[in-house]
Amino acid sequence: MATPQPGATAWLSDIGRLRSENQDACCEFRDASGAQLLVVADGMGGHQGGATASRLAIETVGEIFRGAPRGGAAMLRQSLETANARVYETAGRQVDLLGMGTTCVALLFTPDGAAWVAHVGDSRAYRLREGRIEALTADHSAVAELVRRGVLSPEEGAVHPRRNELLRSIGVEPSVEVDLIEVDARPGDRFLLCTDGLSGVVEDAEIGRLLASAAPARAVRQLVDAANARGGPDNVTVMVALREAGSAMGRSAPAARPAGRPALSWIGWLLAAALVALVVLRGLA
Ligand code: MG
Repeated sequence: MATPQPGATAWLSDIGRLRSENQDACCEFRDASGAQLLVVADGMGGHQGGATASRLAIETVGEIFRGAPRGGAAMLRQSLETANARVYETAGRQVDLLGMGTTCVALLFTPDGAAWVAHVGDSRAYRLREGRIEALTADHSAVAELVRRGVLSPEEGAVHPRRNELLRSIGVEPSVEVDLIEVDARPGDRFLLCTDGLSGVVEDAEIGRLLASAAPARAVRQLVDAANARGGPDNVTVMVALREAGSAMGRSAPAARPAGRPALSWIGWLLAAALVALVVLRGLA
């Protein structure tokens, strides 16, 4: 099998229709060896806090990548953990930034053709292959966990009033669990990173259709336009990367293999249990 090579990338970050500030951030980093890193973050927190958290997280992840571009999965995990520590410490030093946090999803293509996704929060990574869209990440929210357990249907989860409440985010606690997944990347695959400003209002099937329909630069415009056409309730950020065929022999990995840790911390389980109780009690009332 041919090794997938870096192809065209494009990204767009838009304020949306209702917000007064764009607290999302994104960036692409590459190095001479062929390593490529895409990062998207969705900041949370009052005035200045959200935008500061997302920017600081991306700067930190990029800094760690530039220091060790061949560091692979270990570097990727460490970059999000370091971003967590830095956002947390910065929030603790400035009263106007207190409580700020951010999601972060990062996609690393290594020079040998491997691909890794690391994430915390509900910003997502998708892969489009042969017209089929597949989510590579699982949101760290109590509502998403209830959908995974069958307590809520996907349709109920999509409109649940507490769907934006995160179980994990960067910078809110002194340490954070990072989900790290090795992803199979083949020539022709299209990868998408996005914030919930897209995935919260545009269904996966529609995201897949728009992602497949045009070159990356046009696809990101269409995706943002689709979110805004549905009211644009949040900042919306999308990054698209194509993989192209190379000449070297490549490697193949499972479709999406979790690398290590459980999906929820104990506090996550506690919140999920409380939400189950709430849903049951509402049903009885
Ligand atoms: Mg958002």
